[in-house]
Amino acid sequence: MVDLVVKNAKLLLQSGLTRGGLGVDAGQICIIATDEHLPDASTVIDAAGKIVMPGLIDGHAHLHDPTMLSHEDFTTGSRAAAAGGVTTVVDMPLTNQIDSPQAVEEKMAQGESMSIVDFTFYAGMLNSDNYTMIPAMVEKGIAAFKAFTCEPYPTSDGVLIQALSAASESGGHVTLHAENQGVLDEFAREMDGEWDAPISHSLARPNIAEQLAVKQAVTIAEQVGGHLHIAHITTREGLAEVERGKLKGTMVTTEVCPHHLVFHRDEMNRLGPKSKMNPPLRSRTDRSALWSALLRGTIDMTVSDHAPCPIDMKEAGNDDIRKAWSGVDGIQMILRVLLSEGINKGRISFTRLLNVASLNPAKLFGLYPRKGVLAVGADADFVIIDPTREEKLTSEMMFSKCGWTLYENMMMKGAPIMTIVRGTPVYEEDRILVESGHGRFQAMKGIAPFED
Ligand SMILES: [Zn+2]
Repeated sequence: MVDLVVKNAKLLLQSGLTRGGLGVDAGQICIIATDEHLPDASTVIDAAGKIVMPGLIDGHAHLHDPTMLSHEDFTTGSRAAAAGGVTTVVDMPLTNQIDSPQAVEEKMAQGESMSIVDFTFYAGMLNSDNYTMIPAMVEKGIAAFKAFTCEPYPTSDGVLIQALSAASESGGHVTLHAENQGVLDEFAREMDGEWDAPISHSLARPNIAEQLAVKQAVTIAEQVGGHLHIAHITTREGLAEVERGKLKGTMVTTEVCPHHLVFHRDEMNRLGPKSKMNPPLRSRTDRSALWSALLRGTIDMTVSDHAPCPIDMKEAGNDDIRKAWSGVDGIQMILRVLLSEGINKGRISFTRLLNVASLNPAKLFGLYPRKGVLAVGADADFVIIDPTREEKLTSEMMFSKCGWTLYENMMMKGAPIMTIVRGTPVYEEDRILVESGHGRFQAMKGIAPFED
């Protein structure tokens, strides 16, 4: 007799989709088998017609920044995560530094009292005063470090060299927001007077800004060693630089956000300031290049870069896009976008879905094989998906604190219907089933090789 059995499902395993089910005991998967071999259980879920995959790991989300709690917090953000099939969130600082043992302990405590899904978090932002923290942070289970090449937290190539070097010795990786500040400055100056059109935000941050910053960082990683992770890649030129690095054997990985896979910049004037984020929406050609790179493995994982705001901070940009907050919702959308725009449109396979949404992020953040995979002995973190469900996306169905969504009124096919964290259902059919505080901090321990 075990705690929970899910039967009659299609399981998304590393070998592909397989008919059968799984059993859960004491929060872990205790058996994966065909239905006739599953044990008796206190709770049995019949998943006929449904797919069961490991819960998503969102490797880049801004859920809880102590001075920006009007945007989101661990409770609201983790509910949105659960409703998106995400079972572990990697939070990233927005403005408050995580660069001391005290800041780490405070964030762990906040997450454990408020989050309903498991979590871990980035340290950062790196600068010349704090990169020496890296070994001590890795000891504490924080092995992911955020840096910028540009505003608002520009750092030098020297800091990147030192940080990559330290990360390569202690374990862990450096994640870089890569846009060249000199290019951004000059193009913004050129846009003078045209800021009433939201598309100007994208035109003022041209592709070459990303390309130059990625190229420079990959060159540094090639020389220094260490694991460089490029945050939210958006351009075909940036992808080419990542691909060049990978071909040379440089340890460089990258991620893509759902909004860059769905929208393009010619929609910005219609969508308004809600469509402002950094890096910005790009051309249709870039969007196609992102899907192609996601399929063939140049892009290693999907992340939300969830960074919503109160609606008035978007409306502030109605006449001048520079005044709008940069950032959108997304944590509830990663899986829906991968199913609707990826699987159902033939752009990615189920194996890639597993690798980019669950397995590779588990490896990058040192959570594998405890997380990111359906396997005996792994945490029972999984999501039950109805691949045929059609939904009209509305702000009412979103659990984010912000109360709006960039995806308003879009139709999508394929949705998570139940999310389970360490054996406990936390979300089912538009309802949150647990109190705040179910989530547990997950220490990052060692990085495993990725899957293409
Ligand atoms: Zn971000």
